[in-house]
Amino acid sequence: MTLKGGCSCQAVQYEITSPEPVVALCHCVQCQAMSGTVFGTNLMVPASELHLSPSSTSAIKKWQRPGSSGATCTNSFCSNCGTTVFSQTEAENMKAMRFIKAGTLEDKKWLREHRPVMEINRPEGVGWVGDLVRQI
Ligand SMILES: [Zn+2]
Ligand SMILES: [Zn+2]
Repeated sequence: MTLKGGCSCQAVQYEITSPEPVVALCHCVQCQAMSGTVFGTNLMVPASELHLSPSSTSAIKKWQRPGSSGATCTNSFCSNCGTTVFSQTEAENMKAMRFIKAGTLEDKKWLREHRPVMEINRPEGVGWVGDLVRQI
């Protein structure tokens, strides 16, 4: 299947060609800061299944910082509107994955039908987000 998405101003656009992307909540402090709220909702897909439109490459800016594990994390965001579109980590077991911000997905119907199936970095979180998700 193909899912499309992009940043707020659409300067960055992408397609995901993944059989079934995994939706995960991340409670790490960086996801909190990046999202401007208290958790991140990410679609986890192999790097080879994330395709950026040709014009996106000039619009994307990257910002690096050490992640929770100590490995370098890179956030890719739109230099025009500031939307974080995806991130990646140098951590050995997750290197090949891209974490696409679920809110940038165009297909909201798909998102409604695919609840998060995992939560990561819970100890860094506020504690009540997971409970809330399960209650809704
Ligand atoms: Zn943008
Ligand atoms: Zn995170």
